[in-house]
Amino acid sequence: MTDIPERADIPEVIDCIDCGGRCHLLGYHGGLATYRCEDCRDRWDVLMHDERPDGE
Ligand SMILES: [Zn+2]
Repeated sequence: MTDIPERADIPEVIDCIDCGGRCHLLGYHGGLATYRCEDCRDRWDVLMHDERPDGE
């Protein structure tokens, strides 16, 4: 299996939805990027894009 596909599209840091702090990228799997906020320590799973568009 591929380790980390299409990571070029994923930002290393995003703004925290709660506190506005910086969330750092922890990992990426199946279109879902996981971030950890350095301020409130919250964890965020962000859906980046669907790897499989509708229809086959
Ligand atoms: Zn935060």
